[in-house]
Amino acid sequence: MSHFLNWRCINCGKEYELDEVHYLCTQCSKKWITGSPLIGVLEAIFDYQAIAREWEKKQNPRLFSVLDEQFYPPIPVGNTPLFKPDRLNKNLNLPNLFIKNDALNPSGSLKDRASELVVADAIRLGIDKIVCASTGNAASSLACICAAAGKEAIIFVPKSIPKGKLVQIKVHGAKLYTVSGTYDDAFNSALAYSANNDCLNRNTAFNPLTIEGKKTAGIEIYLQLNDVPDWIIIPVGDGVILSGIYKAFIDLKAAGIIDHLPKLLSVQAESSDAITAYWETGTYHNAHNPQTIADSISVKTPANAHWAVNALYQTQGKSVRVSDNEILSDQKYLAQMTGIFVEPSSAAVFSGLRKALTNKWIKPEEKIVMLSTGTGLKDINAIKL
Ligand SMILES: [Zn+2]
Repeated sequence: MSHFLNWRCINCGKEYELDEVHYLCTQCSKKWITGSPLIGVLEAIFDYQAIAREWEKKQNPRLFSVLDEQFYPPIPVGNTPLFKPDRLNKNLNLPNLFIKNDALNPSGSLKDRASELVVADAIRLGIDKIVCASTGNAASSLACICAAAGKEAIIFVPKSIPKGKLVQIKVHGAKLYTVSGTYDDAFNSALAYSANNDCLNRNTAFNPLTIEGKKTAGIEIYLQLNDVPDWIIIPVGDGVILSGIYKAFIDLKAAGIIDHLPKLLSVQAESSDAITAYWETGTYHNAHNPQTIADSISVKTPANAHWAVNALYQTQGKSVRVSDNEILSDQKYLAQMTGIFVEPSSAAVFSGLRKALTNKWIKPEEKIVMLSTGTGLKDINAIKL
């Protein structure tokens, strides 16, 4: 049984019952202007005492789920391995470095965690169509999980989407609309579609279940280490994975299971650095021209910028920029040193670790988790052999 209590607006604190609202705070979202980060994103709050009692009997991550298990789609998601890449660790003298390999989800991406929960909600509500905007991974993920559940996925993507992800979307039978312009244009097209059609919208952060779904990766990291790591390194585009990982540890702390938070290191591509600049200056501006080889983190207006930057402040985290050349070089290095072929955004995580070590933000002996969010096989044109 779910221990969900209410949705709570991160801006004004107003609470809503489960089905009172499905997306943003109805009051705060009125102030939202297209082309700026979302306002009125909702966070789930739970009966943490009830969770703590159940957790003592069985440490089940689904205790922290908004929805009952009976609604989950019939395809396993999550429970991905966390391991020490020994050769890499010895080579760099980093004895406590771990990789969480979320490329081993059904569609090859961490995004399946968000799709799983949104599709579960569609099953619960008896809704047949789910619409989503994506740079590629969220779309291929939604197409995959919808296929398992017999739901129709309606996808808006920018024309620049890598072919591997396009193939995935089509092979799973989703309805595809390519949008001229950027991911941000696709995001707005998906909003317009769901405003005029009977469907659920899976746009990241707009639907708060996307944050709650991605949270499960953080709870698994805690369970697999049986400890709070010193650092978790996360590729950041919209800021939703970072927000979800933060929420995992906030929930674990609220239930009295842990007593402190890990520090979060956000890694962005140089040209797609709106969250890094916001974290540095305290003032938000859109990225000017977010062109990067790491398409998964190419975002002009990060939907969850406000929550993500707050997470960095609350955890004493940091944010760093890396170049496309660093990403491509580290993608090859990781593939040859660890056996894991990650997509460019996940290679960026390692480039970010290098910078954090150089800056002495991270100490070599600390317990570090690198989050690998997607497989390199989705975008083989990015590779320079
Ligand atoms: Zn509000």
